[in-house]
This record gives sequence, structure tokens and C-alpha cells, in this order.
Amino acid sequence: GTPLAVLAAIARIARSGAFVKDGAHLEALSTVDTVIFDKTGTLTTGTPAVVDVRTADGADPDGLLVLAAAAESYSEHPLGQAIVTHARTQGLPVGPCGEFAYLPGRGVTAKVAGKAVAAGNRTLVTDAPEAVDGQGTATAVHVGIDGDYAGTILLADTIRESAQAAVAELHRRGLRTMMITGDQEATANAVAAELGIDDVWAGLLPDEKLAAIDAERAAGCRLAMVGDGVNDAPALARSQVGIAMGSGTDIARESSDVVLISSDLDDIVHTVRVARRARRIVM
Ligand code: ADP
Ligand code: MG
Repeated sequence: GTPLAVLAAIARIARSGAFVKDGAHLEALSTVDTVIFDKTGTLTTGTPAVVDVRTADGADPDGLLVLAAAAESYSEHPLGQAIVTHARTQGLPVGPCGEFAYLPGRGVTAKVAGKAVAAGNRTLVTDAPEAVDGQGTATAVHVGIDGDYAGTILLADTIRESAQAAVAELHRRGLRTMMITGDQEATANAVAAELGIDDVWAGLLPDEKLAAIDAERAAGCRLAMVGDGVNDAPALARSQVGIAMGSGTDIARESSDVVLISSDLDDIVHTVRVARRARRIVM
């Protein structure tokens, strides 16, 4: 049976807001040496807002926004939903689209008013010029129309209030921190620098997130991975300990061993601390 000290530890952690699915996960957590964070929706709140719209030819940005919003109208991704919301609050029509396709880690494509519209990053809109990439912690969504680069929508996400203290506290306890994200390098580095995160892997497609986990494990690291998205699920399952944000997708929560009920990153520190203490009692 599960030792009483382990059950007591799980109960303690539950009271502070994290659900540990099994005693074995607590044991694994007590030996973790690296915590890997997803960026969007994990270190950030995942509710971005459009801060700027720039057209390639300097034309009226509303035309670009109308096409992009229609293309994103079926999108479940926070970036897509933010673009639709922004168009609506600007009083712009969000029309129908056809042939909608979501390419995880890349963006969306759709037919809008007879035009082939693509909204996403450089892996999707490949001829976007260097000049309009993400700035600071803002993310760039490039828009292509009939195969030509047409402009860029910049979206700013908010770093979670609990992120900075959680990262600092993990470092104080001797853990290494990492970020793996599908977002572009400049944006990822800006967020990592603000939080003091040790290592960054950016521009990753979902299977590349998994490859990053495998590479770290092969190097002998003992990993806790924290994530929220569909694109994080395989990486969460492959880490020694998967930790899902309570606000995350169903599949992220199902693929994880620990769920942060209130998505408060401080709860990770508390959970590691209690897990280590329980190990000292039991072993
Ligand atoms: P993260 O790993 O940080 O959670 P994702 O893998 O979900 O991010 O997305 C990675 C990148 O793919 C985004 O930064 C964006 O450039 C692009 N992207 C994904 N979905 C969309 C979308 N619906 N519209 C535009 N761009 C998108
Ligand atoms: Mg995410």
C-alpha cells in the first residue's frame, strides 16, 4: 500500500491547489532536477491582445484584419481568438471562411472571399520580411494572401504574476529551468530573460517539443514538464513528471501526473518541497 506519509503529502499538496494523481508521481517529483515550461498559456496567461497591425504595402490595416479574422474564425488557438475579438471590437465584420485548416505550431489557412489566406509564423508565411518580427515579448502573426506576404499582426500576452517568483524559488532549490515553445526565438528569449529562465528552445513544432524532452532525458536530466496545450500533451506524457495548468486543454490534463488547479505557478514550488520532504520521511 501507499505509505501514510505519501498520502499525507498528497493531501497537503491538494490543500494548496495541486492535484497529484498517484503516490509514484510524488516520488518522481522528489528527484526532479530540471523544470521545463511551455510559454504560451503556461508562463503567460494565454490571453493575448492585438497591439499593432502592419501591412506590407502601408495600406489600411483594416482590410488585412478582416481577412485574417475570417480565416481565424474557427480557431481554438488563443492567438486566433484574439485576432477575431480585436476585429469585432474595431467594428469590423468577421465573415465566413471555407477550407479551414489548423496546423499546430504554425497557424491556420482558409479561403476568404475567394482568396487563399494564411495566418501564422514563418513556417507558414515564408516570405515575410525580417523587419516585422515579434518585438519584446509580443508575438508576430504573419498574414499571407494568395501566396504573398501581406502584413503582420502583433499580439502581446501577459506574463503570469506567479512566474517570476516561482522560477527564482526553483533556482534557489537547485533546480534548472527551461522553456520550450512553438513561438519564435526573439519573443521566447524576451520572456525567458524577464523571468531568468536558464535555457530556451524556440520555434518548436509539437513533435520537436517531444524531441527536446527526449534529448534532455538522454542527457540524464530528470524532468518535470509544465504545459497547457494540445501541442504539449506528448511532451507532458514523456517527462518523468507532467504538470498541467488547470486552465489548460483536456488533453494536457489527461496526459499529466499533476494538475495545478488554479494555474498558480507557485504551487509547483510547494509541490516539489512537500514531495522532497515526504521522500526523506519514507526512504
Ligand atoms: P506555445 O508552444 O508557445 O504554446 P503554439 O505551439 O501553440 O505555442 O504556437 C506556436 C506558434 O504558431 C505561435 O507563436 C504562432 O506563431 C503560430 N500559431 C499557432 N496557432 C496559430 C493561429 N491560430 N493563428 C496564428 N498563428 C498561430
Ligand atoms: Mg501553450
